[in-house]
Amino acid sequence: MKYPKIEMFIDGEWLGASGRDSQPVVNPATGEDIGVLPHASAADLDRALDAARRGFARWRATPAQERAAVLRRAAEWLRSRADDVARIATIEQGKPLAETRIELMAAADCLEWYGEEGRRAYGRVLPRPPGSRTLVMKEPIGPVAAFAPWNFPLGNPARKLGAAIGAGCSVILKPPEEAPASAMMVARALLESGLPPDVMSIVYGVPDTVSRHLLASPVIRKLSFTGSTVVGKHLMNLASERGIRTTMELGGHAPVLVFDDADVELALNLTVASKYRNAGQVCVSPTRFYIQEGVYDKFVGEFARRAAALPVGDGLDAATRMGPMTHPRRMDAMETLVADARSTGAKLVTGGERIDRAGNFWTPTVLSDVPLNARVMSEEPFGPLAVMSPFKTFDEAIAQANRLPFGLAAYAFTNSAKQVMMVGDLLEAGMIGINTTMIGAVDAPFGGVKESGHGSENAIEGLEACLVTKQIAQA
Ligand code: NAD
Repeated sequence: MKYPKIEMFIDGEWLGASGRDSQPVVNPATGEDIGVLPHASAADLDRALDAARRGFARWRATPAQERAAVLRRAAEWLRSRADDVARIATIEQGKPLAETRIELMAAADCLEWYGEEGRRAYGRVLPRPPGSRTLVMKEPIGPVAAFAPWNFPLGNPARKLGAAIGAGCSVILKPPEEAPASAMMVARALLESGLPPDVMSIVYGVPDTVSRHLLASPVIRKLSFTGSTVVGKHLMNLASERGIRTTMELGGHAPVLVFDDADVELALNLTVASKYRNAGQVCVSPTRFYIQEGVYDKFVGEFARRAAALPVGDGLDAATRMGPMTHPRRMDAMETLVADARSTGAKLVTGGERIDRAGNFWTPTVLSDVPLNARVMSEEPFGPLAVMSPFKTFDEAIAQANRLPFGLAAYAFTNSAKQVMMVGDLLEAGMIGINTTMIGAVDAPFGGVKESGHGSENAIEGLEACLVTKQIAQA
C-alpha cells in the first residue's frame, strides 16, 4: 500500500483538497512533500455536525452487541493489514517501523476493548418498597468532538474513536495535520467493518478554526483533547462556555527516581528505551532523572553511553532505533532548551545537536547537573532529551519530583518494599511506574492530575467519560 491520498470523511463522502484550502504533508525523515492535506470549510464542518446529530440518534439506538461487533471487526481489519498501515504511519510520523507496529496492535486492542466494555455499561436498580423502584441508567453523552495529536497517529485516534463509538456516541475527529493518513486508516477500518457513515466524520484544517467551529455548535456534548497544556486550557475555556464535558490529556514532565538500592541495570534498560522511544515525543516520556548519590555517576555515564550508541535514522530502515522528530518546530525547541541549559551551567554529556542530513534528526541528548532555573527543568522538552540530577534523601527526591505543576507520569526504581509503597503514595501523578515503565495497558486508566489534565482514556474510566447517568424513579 503506498502513501494514500489524504481525504476527509464527512457524512459518508470522502473529500479531497480540490476547491479547498490545503497544506503539504511532509515526510519528517526526508523533508519531502508526500501529500496534500485538505482543510475543512465552514460548510464542511456544518455538514459533519449535521451528520453527527443524525448519527447519534441512530447509533445510540443500536444494540451494544452490534456496536461491539463493528469495533471487533475494525480491530481485525487493522491487525490483518499491520505491515501496510504501519509503513504509512512511519512515513508520515517518523518512528521506527517496529514501534509503529506495536502502536498499531495497541490501537486494535483499544478498539476491541471499547466494544467489549460498551456491552457492560450497566446501570443499577435501587431497593424501594414493593411496586416502585429507582433505576440508574447509563446513556451515551452525545456527539463528541475529538482532537488527536501527531505523536501516536494510530493510537490516539483509536482511543478517541473507540471510546465514543463503544459508548454509543457519534464523533467528529480532527486528526493531526502532520500525520493525517494514519487516522484515515483507522476510519477505513471502522467503515469497512460496518460503522454507519453518519456516526463518524474525519476533518482536517487549521486547528483553532476547527475547534472553535465545532465547540460553538449545540450539537457537540463532549470534547476529548490530547496535546499541550496551553492549548488544552484554551479549549477548556471554549468548552466551558457551552457546558461541554471535557477529557484532557495534556503535557507532562515525568520524573524518574533511581534509588541507591535499585536494580540499576533494569532501570537503565527500561529508561533508555523509554526515553528515546518515538524520539522522546511522548507525554509520559521519562525526562527529569533524580539519581541517588551512590549510583549517580555510574547511572549517568552508562545512560549516556547507551544513548549515544542508538542508531538514528529513517524509521523505515530496519537498523533504526530512533527516528526523526515529527516537525521542525520540535528541533527548534530542542536547540533553545539545550542552549539555555548550558548557559545556566548544565553539563552536556552527550548529543545536543542536529544531525546534518535531510529530515528532522536530533542526537539523543543527556544533560547533567542542570540548575533548577534552566528552562528544561520546568518546560516539557517533548524530544530526545534527558536531564540528570543527584539527590541525597528520599524526601528531597519526592519534593523535586512533585515540584512542577504537571502530574502525568512518574517512575521510580527501588528494591525497598517500604520505598515502593511510599513513592506510590507520595508522587503526584496520574500514572506511576515502579520498577517498570509500562503504564499504557488498555485496561489501565491513562490520564493526569494537576495541569496535566483530567479524565482518563482507556479502562472503564475511558468509556465512562462518554456516558451520562440518568435516574428514573418509579412510584
Ligand atoms: P501544539 O500545542 O502546537 O500542538 C499540539 C496539538 O494540539 C497538535 O496536534 C495541534 O493540532 C493541536 N492543536 C493546537 N491548537 C489547537 C486548537 N486551537 N484546537 C484544537 N487543536 C489544537 O504543540 P506541538 O509543537 O505540536 O507539540 C508540542 C507540545 O504539545 C508538547 O510540548 C506537548 O506538551 C504537547 N503534546 C502533547 C501530547 C500528549 O500526548 N499529551 C501529544 C502531542 C503534543
